[in-house]
Amino acid sequence: RVVTRFAPSPTGYLHIGGARTALFNWLYARKTGGKMLLRIEDTDRERSTEPAVKAIIDGLHWLGLDADEPPVSQFERAPRHREVAEELVAAGKAYYCYASPAELDEMREKAKAEKRPPRYDGRWRDRDPSEAPAGVRPVIRIKAPLDGETVVHDRVQGEVRFPNKDLDDFILLRSDGTPTYMHAVVVDDHDMGVTHIIRGDDHLTNAGRQTLIYKAMGWDVPVFAHIPLIHGADGAKLSKRHGALGVEAYREMGYLPVGLKNYLVRLGWSHGDEEIISPEDMIAWFDIDDVNRGAARFDFAKLDAVNGHWIRMSVDADLVDHLMDVREHLPNGAILRSAPDDVVRNRLLRAMPGLKERAKTLVELTESAAYLFASRPLPIDPKAEEILAGGGREVVSGLLPALEALTEWNAGSIEAVVRDYAEREGLKLGKAAQPLRAALTGKTTSPGVFDVLDVLGRDETLARLRDQAA
Ligand code: GLU
Repeated sequence: RVVTRFAPSPTGYLHIGGARTALFNWLYARKTGGKMLLRIEDTDRERSTEPAVKAIIDGLHWLGLDADEPPVSQFERAPRHREVAEELVAAGKAYYCYASPAELDEMREKAKAEKRPPRYDGRWRDRDPSEAPAGVRPVIRIKAPLDGETVVHDRVQGEVRFPNKDLDDFILLRSDGTPTYMHAVVVDDHDMGVTHIIRGDDHLTNAGRQTLIYKAMGWDVPVFAHIPLIHGADGAKLSKRHGALGVEAYREMGYLPVGLKNYLVRLGWSHGDEEIISPEDMIAWFDIDDVNRGAARFDFAKLDAVNGHWIRMSVDADLVDHLMDVREHLPNGAILRSAPDDVVRNRLLRAMPGLKERAKTLVELTESAAYLFASRPLPIDPKAEEILAGGGREVVSGLLPALEALTEWNAGSIEAVVRDYAEREGLKLGKAAQPLRAALTGKTTSPGVFDVLDVLGRDETLARLRDQAA
């Protein structure tokens, strides 16, 4: 049975690259009927924080990528890491090294002088521990093979070969008894029964060293899949400006989980030319063998387009529920608190067909819903004021009597009145509609203006129009 894992270090938020790694692991587990585990790599006690752990778990939950079991803390497994390192020493696969910092410095200087990468020279590899200097606490180093090569069969990168002489006798356990990252990851992945390691390709060289530990313990080496990192739209390493933000920042920018996931899954993986991929299709279609080797590029314009699609596809009532749930995270979410919740819900629901046609994010959706909750007299923005001042108020006055006389108040009957008026006055329909929009929403863009009149209802519409009549 397939077991994947997501193993973030809780030193910051769940960043967007991490979210994509989690998504690929989650999808592969769902697709194969396996499970995805979460391991919090919190061995760096200075940099790991409780709020970061929470942000990671919350971020995964928001995206619908919850792990299938409670998270494992790597730090709490330190005794087990020590035990395995000592087991390797007992089996002659690792050894205690008492080299002093001065000796190690010397090795580094020598490498520098000879213009080659520094490597430990193996001086304690075959030495008798009885020669150990008194009072020095040793590290434990792996006894790496001196020649030959270690081959990683990577499902994305193909066959990757590491000459063993480059892997050197790296440290498993530090002198204070804490494990190195290299060692802890292997012990944890083995103990957690992980069969597939899907992670960023910045860990590819670690896979070579980690393979040596698996072999030394006689453990099965899991399947590796090192996925390309995400770059900015300009091809440079992803920075904040490019979108290297925490997942919560994407929630604040008004992206839907389904939209963000759809966008992320296509960063490095594709299914033909499909741009829009539902959560169900993702599970059905995803395979690690189809992950591309080239770096993926993050592009906000594409994310917006995909998200806009999912906003339009959403069921109105679901969208209203979601909006109410996330409003506290939206910069303009206060708009959705300007009336009692049930009033807000009802008005949103009525207006939603018009609102969702144009919005690419929930922030835009909320902005265009503001007219529903504005109190009179409406704040009028400068562009709308220009229209009203430039003859718009006269149009509003001219339209009022016919609107007041309407017996049936709906988008169709309203439109007929406005068309009739425009024809009589020799105006284009837009010239009559614009002042209405300005007077009713205080803005120059909004959902279809006849829908606005319909959604606001007769009394509120007429009152807003009278406020602006010449
Ligand atoms: N904790 C590592 C990281 O956040 C990941 C280790 C792994 O996936 O093996 O980069």
